Amino acid sequence: MTREPRRVALLGSTGSIGRNTLEVIAASGGRFQVVGLTAHSRLERLEDQAARYRPAWIVATREGSAATHGWRRLPEGIDVHEGGEAVASLVSGSDVDIVVAAIVGSAGLRGAWAALAAGKRVALANKETLVMAGPLVMDLARRSGGTLIPVDSEHSAVFQALQAGRRADVRRVVLTASGGPFRARTRDEMERATVADALEHPTWNMGKKITVDSATMMNKALEIIEARWLFDLEPEQISVVVHPQSVVHSMVEFRDGSVMAQMSPPDMRLPIQYALTYPERWEGPAHRMDFATAQRLDFEPPDLDRFPALELGYSVARSGGTAGAVLNAANEAAVEQFLNGRLPFARIVPTCRDVLRHHAFEATPDLETLERLDQWARGEVVRWMGK
Ligand code: NAD
Ligand code: MG
Repeated sequence: MTREPRRVALLGSTGSIGRNTLEVIAASGGRFQVVGLTAHSRLERLEDQAARYRPAWIVATREGSAATHGWRRLPEGIDVHEGGEAVASLVSGSDVDIVVAAIVGSAGLRGAWAALAAGKRVALANKETLVMAGPLVMDLARRSGGTLIPVDSEHSAVFQALQAGRRADVRRVVLTASGGPFRARTRDEMERATVADALEHPTWNMGKKITVDSATMMNKALEIIEARWLFDLEPEQISVVVHPQSVVHSMVEFRDGSVMAQMSPPDMRLPIQYALTYPERWEGPAHRMDFATAQRLDFEPPDLDRFPALELGYSVARSGGTAGAVLNAANEAAVEQFLNGRLPFARIVPTCRDVLRHHAFEATPDLETLERLDQWARGEVVRWMGK
């Protein structure tokens, strides 16, 4: 039996998740077809991808960038669009089955939102979408008939492990964390951490923003919030355990004490592919477990003193409302300041906490309010940085 290929729009194709997604598609033997690609910078890379995967359209999301780029390597017959609005209209098209949301940061919200509103399957790498607007996004998916399948490895693991039992029998989920490059560092060493130190991740090769988030463990804080909304869990039902090998990607504990874990070597191509093929499982390019050589799996509780981001994550997961959008934006801005050498590593999390504390909390905000607060929080980071 031959089947029509699944038609994929890939938002953020030039990034780490974007390139891994294209590897999965390349290995699929034509069972996926790329219909659209978007990128914000590195447009030569976008052109090369377009030449290889032949989408119907591409989008250069940075305003003004499409007009000034030469597009000398772009084959004939590919439509070039520009700006965030183009992303929203293209993901809704009838030629798209699945949208991979792999833009980094709150800039990823609009495309994921438009795709869900159009009833598409969204393979969600952009956790910021759920951190900012979890309740609104889940409600949109329910109303529109769109589906949200997690790409984040922990949430993919939970999504897979949940299939072993009934939802009502779930006691808690346990998110694993590699612990990042500073897992075994002292507080003093962390105070002096440079940008290069923070970008030295032990197990995953990812974009800069999420790599710094792993060093502060803000990434795990964002993932607690992501899990709360995606799986409709109380914050008390979400635990975090440090697991330096990044082989157990997360676990679900059921009522009777049975714990289901999902294991595979650290390789994002597996959770990406599962989000694309679900409920099927296909052969794919991801690395496999090798039990012929000695292996060990370690688990240890996280150090809440050295990683204060975790407590902040729980508190924002409990508050809900506008807190997620403010934390997310403050963190994005603080990480950018750190990467530019203007904010010490140890000030990233306290700065986020200060901004959160000073925002006008609302319990049931709309999307416009969240986007306004996103802008506000970025400005506040500059104000609190020096204090
Ligand atoms: P990246 O920095 O490598 O790539 C980001 C992509 O988004 C690029 O294609 C870039 O052109 C595009 N982009 C950047 N700013 C944009 C803007 N303002 N508007 C539109 N597009 C923009 O990031 P990444 O590591 O691939 O992460 C992407 C998302 O996936 C993030 O939300 C991250 O948290 C999540 N994620 C990544 C990994 C990973 O292994 N890299 C794992 C889990 C979750
Ligand atoms: Mg993750």
